[in-house]
Amino acid sequence: MNELKSVLYLVATPIGNLDDMTFRAVKILSEVNVIAAEDTRHTRKLLTHFDIHTPLIRYDENNKDIAGTQIIERLKSGDNVACVSDAGLPAISDPGTDLVKLAIEANIKVVPIPGANAALSALICSGLDTTEFTFVGFLPKTQKKCREVLEHLKSHEETLIFYEAPHHLKATLQNILEVLGNRQAAIARELTKIHEEFIRGDLNELKAKFDNIEPRGEFVIVVAGSVNEISNVIDSSEYSLVELYKKFVNDGLDKKSAMREVAKKFNISRREVYKSVMELD
Ligand code: SAM
Repeated sequence: MNELKSVLYLVATPIGNLDDMTFRAVKILSEVNVIAAEDTRHTRKLLTHFDIHTPLIRYDENNKDIAGTQIIERLKSGDNVACVSDAGLPAISDPGTDLVKLAIEANIKVVPIPGANAALSALICSGLDTTEFTFVGFLPKTQKKCREVLEHLKSHEETLIFYEAPHHLKATLQNILEVLGNRQAAIARELTKIHEEFIRGDLNELKAKFDNIEPRGEFVIVVAGSVNEISNVIDSSEYSLVELYKKFVNDGLDKKSAMREVAKKFNISRREVYKSVMELD
């Protein structure tokens, strides 16, 4: 039995595959006094599956002010509360952030119960650089604001991670392509589910995959960071063609992008770079 009192637990739940529920999540959700859920009907199904009978209350974007205050009162009175969203980590493109702020202000202990997350699951299988990344989440829905955000991200060298709903996927890919240029990218679809799929390539290729089909399911888009910044700070006169290629690859570019950047730097065709690089093998 949980000995702690007045703890706010942020509990991860599966993003598709129920086997991704952790033992600790089941334990905590069974032991807390109440579970604050984004959608109580959705979470009830999860609880039923794991034979958990803890009472549920709604905590979502629409009632977060009132519900947040009530939850903090319960925590102050000694109750333990778990916050869950419909899937993955609460507070990541999901309700929870404001509740955490309120809890911290009230000197309440906040404890993470880690688990499934769509962004990181997509990133690690993307084949793109994982050393530095920016989680963008959902881009704004209006074209103008969406492009403003993308313009701001354009010079970022780190990998970018976006969430998108199926009916916006095509438009979002188009916006990303137009503002950021044709970069390497990966689309992770239906992570952890039966139809899990990774589509990798440049943004033009990814967009073309959906030319004749309507996207279905849940999607994460992972896009390589800006390569221009890396090449802009390099004086190519200090390097031979092959040395520069090797440097770009060592700096984290994939081979195709490295060849493209070398071609730009030496003002020659990619084919010529390709020939020289092939002689290396
Ligand atoms: N809190 C969640 C997390 O930790 O990943 C994210 C919730 S956000 C409201 C929902 C978005 O996450 C979806 O539109 C999609 O972009 C992404 N997502 C969630 N589950 C996914 C899955 N199984 N496969 C691919 N993307 C997923």
